[in-house]
Amino acid sequence: MIEHFHSRWLVQDAQEITPRALLAVGQQGRVSGASKENGETQGNVTDLGDVVIVPGYVNAHAHLELPDLGQSGSGEFVPWVGRVLKRRAQLGIADYSAQVESGAKRALATGTTALGEVNSSGCGEAFLAQFPLRTRLYRELLDGDDGERTPEQRRRLALPFLEDLAGGLAPHAPHTVSDALLEACARECRARRLPLSIHWAETPEERDWLSRGVGPFAPFFKRSPSCSGLQRLARAGILDLPLTLVHGNHPEPGDLEELLRCGVGLVHCPGTHAYFDRPQAQLEKWAELGLSVALGTDSLASNGDLDMGREMSLLRAQHPGLDPATVLEWATRGGARALSLHNEIGDLAVGKWADFSAVDAAGMESEADVLEALTGARPEVLGVWIAGRQVWTKQ
Ligand SMILES: [Zn+2]
Repeated sequence: MIEHFHSRWLVQDAQEITPRALLAVGQQGRVSGASKENGETQGNVTDLGDVVIVPGYVNAHAHLELPDLGQSGSGEFVPWVGRVLKRRAQLGIADYSAQVESGAKRALATGTTALGEVNSSGCGEAFLAQFPLRTRLYRELLDGDDGERTPEQRRRLALPFLEDLAGGLAPHAPHTVSDALLEACARECRARRLPLSIHWAETPEERDWLSRGVGPFAPFFKRSPSCSGLQRLARAGILDLPLTLVHGNHPEPGDLEELLRCGVGLVHCPGTHAYFDRPQAQLEKWAELGLSVALGTDSLASNGDLDMGREMSLLRAQHPGLDPATVLEWATRGGARALSLHNEIGDLAVGKWADFSAVDAAGMESEADVLEALTGARPEVLGVWIAGRQVWTKQ
């Protein structure tokens, strides 16, 4: 039986917006078509009323397990890392699991239907495997570039993933992971066909340590590799694999062109960018070059919420020149590409999973209004569907 969802506006993707339309969903939970309301329909029709049907948002970078450090004390990165580590040392398994659970629920209730979760504790995996949100679980690996810690991290590499989770590996960053561990990650991902997600070029301090062995990271590591972060990843054979790099605030000259050549995408986290009061990101340049861009919330340790609507509105405020359609594209299809799930989700094209939310359409009189409101005004999410099944309803 085909199920049709009627709405005031149907957004199949950022370019395809139709007034008074029906989204058809087949029995398997995939989109089977879209039509104007006057056309003939077979099957059930559910009228969702004065709403916009929007493809589920894809949060390409989160750490649900990390605690909320509050909004105070933003600014410098290295002292912030110290505060995160101190807080983490006070937490037990139950705390991590509870954070994953509440974070996943918050993401779903704000219209996110797929998430790239970077997980280092192992807590919350079983919850995510049975929770409706689609999750790419990247297992985080970090040996502090210290050979003594590498063997234990290598053992974690080979662990299996639960059946209902998409797996991936996240060697933490080029300055915090040894060459040996990066190489082991590359081998594992090649053998098991897993994608990678890596923090990269987040701060000038990272660049200073990697290339010149100076700066505030110097006391924490033994020896600088004397190369750029991207060169270190390239040497380990990582750039040829399905890879997403997170942040990318401080690329070296030529790095962005190299990413384009290798087909590597980038994730920008507007809330974290604001938290650290960072200089404006070079997003217009990324878009101009044709790089694949996604958005992420990062964690509550450096952001106030896990709401992709808020990330889009922060991004619009930071970059008023960005086209709203581009912003919505990054929050949907861009994220799907980042998670290597673009053949399955990211828009409501025929054949893809019917993952969408119904958002209050009050005041939306034109396609431009729809894009403007979705990316700027955070309209209320009233319901969320995954594979055509309603999994969340506003009470
Ligand atoms: Zn992160």
